[in-house]
Amino acid sequence: QSQSDMNKVALITGASSGIGEATAVELASRGCAVVITGRNVDNLNKTAAACYEKGLKKSQVLIVQADLTIQADIERIIEKTIEQFKTLDILVNNAGIMVTGGLRNSSLEDFDTLYNTNVKPMYYITKLAEPYLTKNKGSIVNIGSISGMMPMSFVMLYAMTKASIDMFTRCIAQELAPNVRVNSVNPGVTVTDLHLRSGMGAEAYDKYLDMQQHLNPIPRAGKPEEIAKTVAFLVSDDASYITGALLPVDGGRI
Ligand code: NDP
Repeated sequence: QSQSDMNKVALITGASSGIGEATAVELASRGCAVVITGRNVDNLNKTAAACYEKGLKKSQVLIVQADLTIQADIERIIEKTIEQFKTLDILVNNAGIMVTGGLRNSSLEDFDTLYNTNVKPMYYITKLAEPYLTKNKGSIVNIGSISGMMPMSFVMLYAMTKASIDMFTRCIAQELAPNVRVNSVNPGVTVTDLHLRSGMGAEAYDKYLDMQQHLNPIPRAGKPEEIAKTVAFLVSDDASYITGALLPVDGGRI
């Protein structure tokens, strides 16, 4: 399979920034038509423009503005996808938020916010996409985190959602085999807006990024493009015997 002949339809959640944006552009560069979703339309338009630069036609990019915490929005994403492309081959469940806090400094509200954004929509959109993916022998990648694989008490609730994603991956990899391959890509600290959006101050974030050179055998934070290329590999035919895997992309941290 050459770089540009994937010729598939890929749906990427959280494609308006960071890892999701990089993944949409990477899959576009390999010839996939892309469905890009998120709440921020200006950002989605920027992702679309980057996909056109990789050679996609207007008709190969579908923008669906959607809030994944709203059930009807998830249903609309799948409806619009099938209306436009008639089919779906690849689902990248990337959208997510981080809320910092351990047991003592988190709340039930934080719990609901995290699970209602990171876990429940992933379950529901995958459920709706599954018949199309099964029909096409498609592939799913869920974006977890290394915080779901090792205890990081300062982000306890977030880490719990990410561990939950890993088990979702492993269970549905079993259930949907051999037709649909399902894997998790679990990034280490990656340079995106995630941490700043979580309320971490700019100074603390800079320090946290700086710490990565001491924590990671590859002494730096990751780049969204590095996560995107891993996702692109896992959804390609080059990964035809890989399913149920939880792959850290973390510079060797865990
Ligand atoms: P960003 O904040 O840049 O991207 C998050 C994406 O999720 C945005 O596109 C955002 O879109 C979307 N999103 C968030 N909430 C909703 C919602 N309610 N409805 C629809 N879309 C939503 O961060 P990253 O790129 O870093 O995050 C992507 C994934 O990577 C997340 O799952 C994160 O947990 C994971 N990850 C990131 C790491 C890092 O260090 N950056 C490390 C490990 C994992 P919009 O705002 O337009 O709605």
